Amino acid sequence: MKVPLLDLRAQFATIRAEVREAIDRVCESQHFILGPEVAALEEAITTLCGARFAIGVSSGTDALLMSLMALGIGPGDEVITTPYSFFATVGVIARVGACPVFVDIDPATFNLDMTAVSAKITSRTKAIMPVHLFGWCIDMNPMLDVSKERGIAVIEDAAQAIGAKDSKGRQAGTIGAMGCFSFFPSKNLGAFGDGGMVVTNDEKLAETLRMLRVHGARPKYYHRMVGGNFRLDALQAAVLRVKLKHLAAWTAARQGNAQRYRMLFQEMGLVERVVLPEDIPGHSYNQFVVRFPDRDRLRGFLRERDVETEVYYPLPLHLQECFQGLGYRDGDFPQAEAAARESLALPIHPEITETQQRYVVSQIREFYGG
Ligand SMILES: *Cc1c(COP(=O)(O)O)cnc(C)c1O
Repeated sequence: MKVPLLDLRAQFATIRAEVREAIDRVCESQHFILGPEVAALEEAITTLCGARFAIGVSSGTDALLMSLMALGIGPGDEVITTPYSFFATVGVIARVGACPVFVDIDPATFNLDMTAVSAKITSRTKAIMPVHLFGWCIDMNPMLDVSKERGIAVIEDAAQAIGAKDSKGRQAGTIGAMGCFSFFPSKNLGAFGDGGMVVTNDEKLAETLRMLRVHGARPKYYHRMVGGNFRLDALQAAVLRVKLKHLAAWTAARQGNAQRYRMLFQEMGLVERVVLPEDIPGHSYNQFVVRFPDRDRLRGFLRERDVETEVYYPLPLHLQECFQGLGYRDGDFPQAEAAARESLALPIHPEITETQQRYVVSQIREFYGG
């Protein structure tokens, strides 16, 4: 049985008519950059998140980059973040010329260890960038207290966590100074290309972000700062507006699939051998990541049986070749390094069937000799 990691064609089949109508609307208008479609999407995102402002941008990476630019972060500044994330989180810190300072992860949440952050704060620390990895919006209170006291901004990398909530019901992305979402097609709310969004409750930051998005100009051709082309396309916004209406149902389906995996792992006697993600109510399950002993061999075994999986991420960021100059070494962040060795994402998309999930877990059981 074939089990894909993600099935966007199956998803498209359920919304084809609505999406085509939205695309036609943009084609008829011939208004392709920003404009009413983007404004309407921004409005819908503020409603979803309960944030005051939302700024549609060109990608999740650019959302993160602009957040650092809006705070004026650059050479000589430090930004504290996690070594276990998608490259963009740290790439943007390096791109503005600041220095990434890593804190190891909490193995349970895959996010940076909140209690270890304060020890890494120096007079140069300008921001902290937690990452709500795999869709788990963790409780950031210990870190928020410290950052408030020291006047340090928190930028949430919520690229994988749109619609996720922390234990107090707060939406991912709305808890720090700015929150960044990605609409890369594999995210829970995926465009038909690249796209992203920054949300904030701070009016001045929102204004700066809007300016940065259009090369720092206001009015047009009068540049107050050096920004970039960080604009979102109207076509992407139109598609995203259609998909946004289904997001709550898709997230609920992912959450249901997570519960079904838990039941199946239990039923097949595997819960002692693997580490399942904790059962957290607000988790949006962009990924269902399990820690497996002998992960690489298991992955090969599943591939032979047509089960697609993915390793997020095989090499922690402090060990990437391009960051050799930072002077980190193997062994510096043991929790991130262990996660990179043991983690495997199983298919959890809303369209997966019970039969497929049962097949996945039964193959895992066979691998471990059950
Ligand atoms: C996807 C992702 C990004 C980057 O988003 P893009 O839209 O692909 O630029 C940043 N951080 C994390 C954690 C991500 O998963």
